[in-house]
Amino acid sequence: MVTISTSKITEIIEQQRIFFHTGKTKDVNFRLKQLQKLKQLVTENTAAITQALKADLNKSEFEAYATEISSINEISYAIKNIKNWTKPKKADVPLDFFSYSAKIYPEPLGVVLIISPWNYPFGLIISPLVGAIAAGNCAIIKPSELAPHTSNLVVELITKYFPSEYIAVVEGGVETSQELLANKFDHIFFTGGTSIGKIVMAAAAKHLTPVTLELGGKSPCIVDTDINLEHTARRITWGKFINSGQTCVAPDYLLVNQNIKQDLIAAIQKTLKEFYGDNPAQSPDYGRIISHRHFERLTKFLNNGKIVVGGETNFEEKYIAPTILDNVALTDTVMQEEIFGPILPVIEYTDIKDAIALINSQAKPLALYLFTQNQPLQQRILQETSSGGVCINDTIMHIGVSSLPFGGVGDSGIGSYHGKASFDTFSHYKSVLKNSFWLDLNWRYAPYKDKLSLLKKIIK
Ligand code: NAD
Repeated sequence: MVTISTSKITEIIEQQRIFFHTGKTKDVNFRLKQLQKLKQLVTENTAAITQALKADLNKSEFEAYATEISSINEISYAIKNIKNWTKPKKADVPLDFFSYSAKIYPEPLGVVLIISPWNYPFGLIISPLVGAIAAGNCAIIKPSELAPHTSNLVVELITKYFPSEYIAVVEGGVETSQELLANKFDHIFFTGGTSIGKIVMAAAAKHLTPVTLELGGKSPCIVDTDINLEHTARRITWGKFINSGQTCVAPDYLLVNQNIKQDLIAAIQKTLKEFYGDNPAQSPDYGRIISHRHFERLTKFLNNGKIVVGGETNFEEKYIAPTILDNVALTDTVMQEEIFGPILPVIEYTDIKDAIALINSQAKPLALYLFTQNQPLQQRILQETSSGGVCINDTIMHIGVSSLPFGGVGDSGIGSYHGKASFDTFSHYKSVLKNSFWLDLNWRYAPYKDKLSLLKKIIK
């Protein structure tokens, strides 16, 4: 990792400001070309990307493709829609504004900063970058220091495909991140933990810089009895244990109807065997924990409740088996913090109102999962809980739909992206009202004498 000095950071920002003010990024054809280049960057380097993800997270080739290289979809979606997104949109004017016309112009913000986490260290750089490029900005990217192979590769690729006065990568850890944050940007797009999100927002406030905070939290997964058990078990197992549970929208814990709890645990156990064999440590498809610090943080959770599935660990390999914990108390640390690993606590309920009350007593989650065919129950959960997004009868899949904005609410984040929402996030919508000269009614000009009664008729 090359550490970049403070003066170098200032220099990159200044060069990007100069480039931005040339107006080149405002040209839609320029943006289109850069999106095509970004697509090329990904498609021409899938082998290297897969290798880096394997080295950082023991990510399988399939998962690398499905969850990170798949950001190609976001690029293609932007390429397809950019001409439409960038067009000024006509706005209605009231009747008494008959001599005016109104339009809303999207315009780029300028130089933006993208700070990324380690769990999807490639995809979570490319996805926001698509929005930054499509909206016509220059961008500085700060990858996570905890995924060094991917971070190095991102430097290599971005440097090869883009000039640094347009898109640059600054590698480094907390200190580098803080040095970057000391500067003024036109937008900061941060993906990471809630506590660091607060630090980022405080730093941004000093410059009145707008932020998008894509954070985490405990995403609950409610399981009712009115389900297809086999499908439910597969979809939960996949969503929880993909990337070894290190997914911001992984189901954090299960809230299961008491009548189906034992069946569900047995079905998940069976599914785990189908997915990863008798010993997941030997499965080519099962990942590893990113660092020894996170390994130790996670293994402490294994002292909570009772391990009913898994529980095996290997410090050297940073391996934690897919684990299910039963008899967990809400006061246990595993229920107090975001888990972000392959440990699934199960909490049972007898009355759905208790499950709802539990969710509402905690910080608003990034995702909420509900397994039931019962439509009134689906409506009730939507009505009575708040979360960044909801996925019914599945897990995680909602973030793969470009037409659905993705983001948190409350402690799980501010703002959203994906598809058009990414373009919106990195744009300013400039309202423009235009008058003409063919008429100039004097109802608003002084002297106001006798004009108030007319005004009262207009304003109602
Ligand atoms: P993190 O917050 O520790 O780090 C994220 C980034 O912030 C890294 O680039 C890191 O270098 C930087 N950073 C760390 N400490 C900093 C500080 N004090 N000041 C400035 N910058 C700092 O997060 P992480 O461990 O990389 O990722 C895990 C968290 O991210 C989880 O909470 C997860 O839920 C969340 N997450 C959210 C999403 C989402 O889309 N909402 C996606 C992935 C991960």
